[in-house]
Formats: sequence, C-alpha cells, structure tokens
Amino acid sequence: MDFCRELESRLRKNREEHIFVRERGLMKCFLPFGSFAFCFLFVISGFGQQSDSGQSLGDVARKLRKDTTNEVKMTDADAKKLFETVDRVFAFAAEDTGMPKHAAVKRRLVSKGDVENDATRQLAKQEFAQSFAQEELSMKKLGFLPRDFNLKEFLVRSTGQEIAAYYDPETKVISMLNWVPPEQQEPILAHELTHALQDQNYNLAKWMKAARKPEENHPSSTSTIDGDSQIARKAVVEGQAMVVYLDYILKPAGRSLEDTPGLIYQMEDPAVKAVTDSQLMHDAPMILREMGTFAYQGGLIFEGELLHKGGKKMAFAGAFARPPRNSHEVLQPEAYMRGENLPSVNIPDMREVLNNEYDVYDSGGIGELDVRALLKQYGERKIANEVSSEWNGGAYTTFHRKDKAVGEVATGTGDLALLYVSRWKTPQVAEWFAGFYARAVSQRYHSATVQAVPACSGTNCAVSIVQIATEEGLVIVEHRKDNSVVVSESFDAATAAKLRAALQNATTAVQAESLPQEELGSRLLELPAFQIFAQQIGERIAESMSREPAR
Ligand SMILES: [Zn+2]
Repeated sequence: MDFCRELESRLRKNREEHIFVRERGLMKCFLPFGSFAFCFLFVISGFGQQSDSGQSLGDVARKLRKDTTNEVKMTDADAKKLFETVDRVFAFAAEDTGMPKHAAVKRRLVSKGDVENDATRQLAKQEFAQSFAQEELSMKKLGFLPRDFNLKEFLVRSTGQEIAAYYDPETKVISMLNWVPPEQQEPILAHELTHALQDQNYNLAKWMKAARKPEENHPSSTSTIDGDSQIARKAVVEGQAMVVYLDYILKPAGRSLEDTPGLIYQMEDPAVKAVTDSQLMHDAPMILREMGTFAYQGGLIFEGELLHKGGKKMAFAGAFARPPRNSHEVLQPEAYMRGENLPSVNIPDMREVLNNEYDVYDSGGIGELDVRALLKQYGERKIANEVSSEWNGGAYTTFHRKDKAVGEVATGTGDLALLYVSRWKTPQVAEWFAGFYARAVSQRYHSATVQAVPACSGTNCAVSIVQIATEEGLVIVEHRKDNSVVVSESFDAATAAKLRAALQNATTAVQAESLPQEELGSRLLELPAFQIFAQQIGERIAESMSREPAR
C-alpha cells in the first residue's frame, strides 16, 4: 500500500502542476481507412470537476483559450526543452515496447491558429460515408440502433470538440503546442510516440488496412473481410499506447504495468464508468458505447494480460506479428494465446431457396462484442459479460426484394428481411439467448404478439421455437440441437422454414471454404466521424485512469 500512497501524493502534485493537460487536454488519435492517419489532441469542454485551487476546470480552460488566441506563450528555452523531450519520451516508449526506433520523429511547434486551420482541413474530409447506409439500416433491423436514430447527426454533434494539437503518421510529424508548458505534454507524448514507433516498425495505416479485403468483387452487397477484424487490430494499437502511457505515469514510482499487473483492473473499471456516465456517452446506443471504449479498455486489458503472461515480446512485437482476429480473442486473451480456432458461422447463398425473389442487401458477422452490446441495449447489463463470453460465432444476412433496387430499398427496415445465426458453447446459454432475443422483440417493434407454433414431430425438431407477429412481419427464434439460435425476421412462416432447413443442410458443406466475416459494430470504424467519437472516449478513459490510483 506504500506504493499506492506514493503514487497518490505524486499524482496530486502532478495534478496541481499539470492541471490543463491532465484534466483538459486529452489526446485523440484516429486512423481512418482513407488516405490519412491522424492523431489529435483535443481540448475537451464540459468536465465539471473542481481543480485543487477551487477554480472549475471549465473556468481554467476558458481562461486559457481566451488568453492564448494566436499568441506564442512559450519561450525559446521552453521550445528547446520540449523538442528535447520528444527524444527522451520516444526513447522511453522504445524501451517500454521493445520496438526499435528507425528514425527520429520530426517535430514542430504549432500555434492555436495552425492547429485550427489543420483541424478544419482534416474535418472537411470527414464526409459521412455513403456506403455506410446499408450497415446502418442492418444495425437498425437487428436492433443495435433504434429505428429512428440518426447516426450521422449524432456523430457530428458528438465531435464538435476543440482541437488543440495533433500528430500525423502520414507526414511522420509530431506537432506540439506552443502555449502549454513542456512537462504538461509528456504523458500525451508517451501515447503519441508509441503510435510513431508502431508506425515506423509496422506501417500503421497499411497494417490496419490489411484487416480488410478489397470489395470490388462485391459492389453492392457484402462487406467481405479476409479474416481479421479492424476492431481487434485497433485494440492492439491503442492498447499498446495505453500501456506506455500508464507506464510513463508509473515510472517515477519505480513501477510498470508489467510488474504491477493488477493495477489495470483497479483503474479501468471506475475509469470506464466515469466515461460512460458522461454526457457524451449518455445518449449513445450501446453499440456506439461498446465500440467507442473497446480499443482503449479492451485493448489495455488484452495487452496487460499478454504482458503478464508472455512479457514484452508477446505484448508488442508478438501482437503485431499475430494480431487477435476478432473481438472474442481480445475479450478472451486466453483464447488468443492458445490459438483457439473457432469455425466461423456462415450463411450460405439463399437466393435459390428464396425463389430468386430476394437479393442480399448486406451481410457480416455478429461478434462477441456485438452480442455484449445487444444484451446491454435490451436490459441485461449485469450478465452481459458472462453470457457474451459463451459466444461461439455469429453471422447475419439482410435481404431485400428483387423487385426493388438497392437504392430504393434504403428507406426503412420494413423493406428488409433478416436471417441471423448465432452459435453458443452450451445448450443452456443457447436457450437463454433465444429467450432473451424473443423478449427483446417487444422493445424493438411497436407491436409484438406471440403466436402459437404447430407441434413438431420427427428427428429434426428444434429444442424450442418462438414466433412473434410484428408490424414488419414475423420474427421466428429457433434454438437448435447444435447450440445455435436461428432468427428470421420479416419472412413468412413457410419461407422461414425453408431457410432453416437450407441452413441445416449447408452447415457441414460450407465450413471448409468459409471465412470469418467482419463484426457488425467493427464496421463503424469505417466512418471517420466515428473514429473521432471513439478517440474522445478513449482519451477520457486515459485521463480518468491516470487519476484513479489517487482516489
Ligand atoms: Zn492513440
């Protein structure tokens, strides 16, 4: 406990000295899958904590902003000190990660005006991806987003924060603020420079893009991924930067996460709670909250476990050489470490079964993190972790009637039909999930009436089956003997039965050639605006964590 006290007094001192950066300035990084990759330092407004001097942080920030229009505050000596700091912190990050430095990081000092100009230019690129309309409508059909939710409006509203500085892996330049004292920028630099090291060793933008497969063969329908998930790779990138960030804070106390592994758990829970209780997150659907916090919180815990079990080599170079393939492997590091090989759930081509009356609108995976978000969205927060850890695979396909073009169909979920297959570790959990899904129907649709189902005889009967009539047609939830739960929505009973039979016949045939599909929520990372949203959350988590041990 001496260690805790020591850290507490150090952090208290730190807080007095470093109030602006520690409380107000939170680094933001994002790696959109466009042509650029970027790291921002945002100044967050709206935190209500009181500083040790009794002045609210809002006051401090307002005063700083008012005082610092375009005026250069830093002396030449300070600027020199800051430039030297980069080398020192970069060396720390290199030692902490075991990743060699390949070049000095280019650095520049920026004024508020520079930052605002660059930020405006970057944000101008933040066009809402038109192609995301299909994913968004699928998310609504599946209940991940409310049917009347406006994703674009929400993300734009949530990302109106002031940008104070940034780091840009595209130009390999780190930009530092000319109005914030050098020592206040240090912990942020530790996080940023970890990205610079990752970039020098693995080419971050390319490495992140490797999780995606070119989609030219799938012009209008599926978003096929060649195995690895973007969210899992993102968790490695941010999880490593979080480890270095916390190690940098722990360093004066002579500690590191490697020798104090329990500290992560001590810090992350209250930190995440503080962030999810914030206004930014309060109105966000669970899928956005889960995806927003995952790379930082999930990534940090994953990296912490690797560090604990396999040392630096496994946690840093190892995670880049063999990244986790999906959110399941990040959430269950032991599954990653033992190289678990889950056969993926795939939905075969159903167009013939559907008499060629339907075409595929969209398809993808439903991962462990997606399922956790769904459970939390529909009232099962307390057991969401426990149930989702029993996930054993999942996939969906949404269909639209062929007599309507894809462009015409995107008006509402009523035009879509859905097939969702999930697989579970035990019959008990599969049955529980089937019950949960059926219960949630009344929250997802305006009307939900349970209908009687004819008794089944023969060998292929389901363990249980529930049929519910809604304003968008029937929802049928079937728990099968192979621990899978098959859901169909907006197909009539006879068509749904044909689809279930086709799934059963295809199960063994398609597995050999099946590829895992990108998780639904993970596809949010394709949106630059979501990247910024996630970074705001992530850096608030970082900031809260650095405060947590002092409580
Ligand atoms: Zn970052």
